[in-house]
Amino acid sequence: MQCTMAKILLVEDEHDLAMLVRNWLEAELHLVEIVDNGLDALNCLEVNSYDLIILDLLLPGLDGLQVCRNYRAKKGAMPILMLTAMSSVDEKEIGLDAGADDYLTKPFHLKELAARVRTLLRRPLSVMSTSLTLRNVTMETLECVVKKDGREVHLLPKEYRLLEFFMRHPNQVFSAELLFDRVWESDATACLDTVRGHVMRLRSKLDTPGQPSIIETVRRMGYKLQTSDA
Ligand code: CA
Repeated sequence: MQCTMAKILLVEDEHDLAMLVRNWLEAELHLVEIVDNGLDALNCLEVNSYDLIILDLLLPGLDGLQVCRNYRAKKGAMPILMLTAMSSVDEKEIGLDAGADDYLTKPFHLKELAARVRTLLRRPLSVMSTSLTLRNVTMETLECVVKKDGREVHLLPKEYRLLEFFMRHPNQVFSAELLFDRVWESDATACLDTVRGHVMRLRSKLDTPGQPSIIETVRRMGYKLQTSDA
């Protein structure tokens, strides 16, 4: 099973279907946020960042095509999987013209949905590499295993997701706010102290005494993962 976690915005007004999809994708360790109308979807896309959008075509207010066009017009680049109850080729072409990357006709099997999600998340390849190494720490994202000096280190889910984010973006400085936005659910009750606490726990689990910390604090800026000991 692809274990790399993604933050997914699910735009679906059928409550039961939305719950089914969320449960299925959460079982594959993704974070799923649900909104039930097009306007809320655009608002979410404006203030939060996601790895993938699953967008129902028929929605109250703004429909999926309008959301898609509006998002792409604002240079939104995240992959979009469009859902619809209609199966005609025309509808599919309209969706793809509006900027959707893929299309799934209802009713669909959740396995099929998850397969499409995996395919869309696989791009770009460099981002989705499954074996990450940084100094003496390795991460196998297919198995969700983290090792330090070859020995397995047990991380809590959010610690794992935070570390994966750092390892996929080495030597870049991230503010606590940005880390919070990328790693936690948008409606999480956690605060920035939660981010700091998780960074401290990662350090205590992964740092080597006498060596610079794997996660460096950049004063007044945030944190970055250092690839070299220098
Ligand atoms: Ca609908």
